[in-house]
Amino acid sequence: MPGPKKDLSQLCLHSITTKPWSLEEALDKYCEKGIGGISVWQNAIEKQGAKKAGKLLESYPIEVVSYVRGGFFPATSRRKRQKAIDHNKQLLEEASLIKAPLLVLVVGADPGQSLNKSRKQIQEGIEAILPMARSLGVKLGIEPLHPMYAHSRSAINTLQQANDMAESIKDAFVGLVVDVYHLWWEENLKKEIARCGKNENLFAYHISDWKAPLQDILNDRGLMGEGCIPLKKIKRWIGKAGFKGYHEVEIFSNRFWAMDQDRFLKKIIDHYIQYA
Ligand code: ZN
Repeated sequence: MPGPKKDLSQLCLHSITTKPWSLEEALDKYCEKGIGGISVWQNAIEKQGAKKAGKLLESYPIEVVSYVRGGFFPATSRRKRQKAIDHNKQLLEEASLIKAPLLVLVVGADPGQSLNKSRKQIQEGIEAILPMARSLGVKLGIEPLHPMYAHSRSAINTLQQANDMAESIKDAFVGLVVDVYHLWWEENLKKEIARCGKNENLFAYHISDWKAPLQDILNDRGLMGEGCIPLKKIKRWIGKAGFKGYHEVEIFSNRFWAMDQDRFLKKIIDHYIQYA
């Protein structure tokens, strides 16, 4: 006999997690299971465009949690930096069309210049798109990335640096995304999560696991419980910091993408309930 139905109302899946599925298939399957939220990746709406995707999303009983992802502001050339700003403005339009309240930012870095210079350009980039974000009602979430990405994907590598930047910009529309994959190792993580919450900058929470060993730094994320991240501990810290939002499963994995996605979805739910 099946047991009582599990409460998945606080669970959110990133569309990239079940990449082989189209947006429509993902929505059918997530809603069938009672999953509360979806974070939509740009590739998932590329074919139909944001307007049609927005209509489709609206027809399902699921909340759009965020649009992923903008950013990549730093560049040694001014022309490239301007191009990045224009691209982020377009992403804000798309976020607004799919009614996503948050655009996640992977802020970028350029190996041709210092990290400090990249950080300065990141702040300038965010400030350049901020008026538009405010007018569309789409918040901006800076996601610090593990230092293995400091050369090209993100010059912001700790929650401490991200807190510093959010506090320096100091705007209700700019906050942070805490992703356990990137931050689990950070000294003083508990303190920085508390600081983030206290300043009302804790916008989103991403979960997965860090396998030992990793086969690939990008596309071998583990399912919750498969690795060494103290997920339950971090969840307590997040809760204590006042976070009441979704627990967003974001897994890039060649191993799982190759698997039957229905079986994978069942595994995600089981592991979420047991380990996260
Ligand atoms: Zn993330």
